[in-house]
Amino acid sequence: MTTTTTSVPPAPSFAPSDTPEEGSALATAHAQLATAAEILGYDEGLHRMLATPRREIHVAVPLRRDTGETVLFHGFRVQHNVSLGPGKGGLRYHPSVDVDEVRALAMWMTWKCAVVNLPYGGAKGGVAIDPRGYSQSELERVTRRYTSEIMPMIGPDTDIMAPDMGTDAQTMAWVMDTYSVNRGYTIPAVVTGKPLAVGGSLGRGTATSAGIVHVTSAALAEAGVPLAKVSVAIQGFGKVGSHAAEIFAARGARVVAVSDQYGGIRADDGLDVPRLMEHVQRTGSVVGFDGADPVSNTELLALDVDVLVPAAIEGVLDETTAGSVKARWVVEGANGPTTAAGDALLAKNDVTVVPDVLANAGGVVVSYFEWVQANQTYWWTEQEIADKLEHRMTTAYAEVSALAKREGLSLRDAALVIGVKRVAEAHQIRGLYP
Ligand code: NAD
Repeated sequence: MTTTTTSVPPAPSFAPSDTPEEGSALATAHAQLATAAEILGYDEGLHRMLATPRREIHVAVPLRRDTGETVLFHGFRVQHNVSLGPGKGGLRYHPSVDVDEVRALAMWMTWKCAVVNLPYGGAKGGVAIDPRGYSQSELERVTRRYTSEIMPMIGPDTDIMAPDMGTDAQTMAWVMDTYSVNRGYTIPAVVTGKPLAVGGSLGRGTATSAGIVHVTSAALAEAGVPLAKVSVAIQGFGKVGSHAAEIFAARGARVVAVSDQYGGIRADDGLDVPRLMEHVQRTGSVVGFDGADPVSNTELLALDVDVLVPAAIEGVLDETTAGSVKARWVVEGANGPTTAAGDALLAKNDVTVVPDVLANAGGVVVSYFEWVQANQTYWWTEQEIADKLEHRMTTAYAEVSALAKREGLSLRDAALVIGVKRVAEAHQIRGLYP
């Protein structure tokens, strides 16, 4: 068989991240940190320290395709901050992955772990690949090669991966196996979000979505609105969006619209979510679901609903879309779905935003439980995990909301102030080496 190299994307640039592209995830993350640093009165040195990733690695990931052809991808792992503990963060497979996006996602992980009081720093990884175009065995080879390349940076005490967009429990099993084989023994705690059969945790698959519903319910309760009385629109019907739809519906809320990258659907009386899940299993998309009307992703964001949950990609609520949002609550399932300009418009229109670093933290909370269980090789029941998750999420919401009220801050600024302050305090108490 002849092997040819036909796809060589240009090497990504490593421009300093001080000047990220306007409206990009990193620009949004930097703007949020700048606001928190200003509220906290931090000097420039501390602010720069908090803005700058501790470690980054860029790796080439060659893949021998099933056809024999060789193609090349670029992969990254960024540890943004490790003052509170080992790096923790997902692995993303998406064509638009670049180093600045991974830097932003790693920074958000740092604040998120601190907001829900986990002994972790923030990290993130990604490979610029569209997983839909590759077979399972090709994805396995990409995952194993990427893992081998970043091996010096990861480990159960240094940097722990989990699934994110485009990756799943199977991906984590391959990472865990590659790492373990190279170390010579089984090390389940190097990843979380892995299958139950190899040391995963009960409740991890639905944890992010369950957390979203807990904080939504807490935000609604402050306004005296029961969850069972609200209508919900969800953008993104993957691991986060689909389970959020399921849990919202099971708790009596009306899920009136959902979408994915192929389009969206709406039914004002409420979608039959279990039947929709079957349709997606069968067809791969929400599009074409019986008894629902089509709606575009942009129209979905502007629907007249009580709660809007962006649960797909970054930057969808920006200066062109955020002004049309009619929902009273935006609960950020995705990381970074709202740009700084979008945030200002939502605030102007009195839309309450429950920010990503709080709203979608349920996933990393149960990842932490999985890591603790793996380290102890002692497994908890599903009910124990559900109770502990609810307690963490509602406690974190109450802390953020109390600070917001006391200081007249948005929930986003209050969450960031809490997260950033915990990280900065750990850094200051540890002191600067040497
Ligand atoms: P996923 O790959 O399982 O699903 C992503 C969904 O978004 C799919 O339905 C896809 O079709 C849709 N999508 C992709 N591009 C889109 C576009 N341009 N417009 C509309 N829809 C689009 O990913 P996931 O794990 O559900 O992650 C979704 C978001 O939640 C990401 O921002 C991720 O970082 C964040 N998040 C995930 C977790 C987790 O535990 N998986 C935890 C915290 C945050």
